[in-house]
Amino acid sequence: MKDIATPNRTNEILKKHGFHLKKSLGQNFLIDTNVLHNIVEASGVGEEDGVIEIGPGIGALTEQLARASKKVVAFEIDERLISVLVDTLSPYDNVQVIHSDVLKADVRASIEDMFADVRHVHVVANLPYYVTTPILMKLLEDKLPLASITVMIQAEVAERIAARPGTKEYGALSIAAQYYAEAEAVLHVPASVFVPQPRVDSAVLRLTLRETPAVEVLDEDWFFKVFHASFANRRKTLLNNLVHNLAGKEKKPEVEQALAQVGMDPRRRGETLSLEEFAALSDALLKPLGKTE
Ligand code: SAM
Repeated sequence: MKDIATPNRTNEILKKHGFHLKKSLGQNFLIDTNVLHNIVEASGVGEEDGVIEIGPGIGALTEQLARASKKVVAFEIDERLISVLVDTLSPYDNVQVIHSDVLKADVRASIEDMFADVRHVHVVANLPYYVTTPILMKLLEDKLPLASITVMIQAEVAERIAARPGTKEYGALSIAAQYYAEAEAVLHVPASVFVPQPRVDSAVLRLTLRETPAVEVLDEDWFFKVFHASFANRRKTLLNNLVHNLAGKEKKPEVEQALAQVGMDPRRRGETLSLEEFAALSDALLKPLGKTE
């Protein structure tokens, strides 16, 4: 059977269904089977596994996932694509398409309902770029029972998520993601493998979920507030960011004391701190400041 992800077959499908791509929904479809094979391979999905796909489009990645796994559940927001997918995915009996905005969907319930008989559950997707970060943060913060998340996203966002301390890409997004998962940008992808071509370069990011978060903290919400505040203004020192964006001027002595308690130079900048250092700092700031929020 001819793959969906060739330029000819994709054109045929779009024409047959009179489908016009919607830019506002991030509809850039993949037309390169090699890239799709690389994504599936990078995801580590096996025959006994279940896959959640976000945004199946006309089914280019979905069919490769259906061939490689036990079952695929795909969330698609665009109602016009549902009948297209019924047609293009008719050869596969292990795919279920759910017409829903994934940000509003109860993904946990879908996992419980549909994946009782699989080994691991993975997320694999070519994400709509206008909502990359909210989708990834929802999947991670909801603490879903996932083994991994492998997604095509903007190269720049993939680099920020996988960045190490001390680099200019390292920031709140790196820490938020790496708290829950090991992050790796595994493949750089040129714009030419999509129709229409996106204006930015793309990359495949793989997140391997940790069984327990990377660091232990007394209060998770507080930890998130502390590192977000530490990056609020990248030109400011850690002390200034914490005073201005978290504690308030009158609590400057408490911030100085907490920094001293964990042996941290107040002139350091957020981007030099490891997750472990943010965890220690967050715990030290919790008692004097945590209740003032
Ligand atoms: N998987 C296809 C491929 O690789 O060719 C299409 C990928 S395209 C980049 C993104 C897809 O996500 C589109 O089909 C779009 O309609 C869908 N989409 C956009 N926002 C969504 C949302 N919030 N929930 C679910 N699907 C969404």
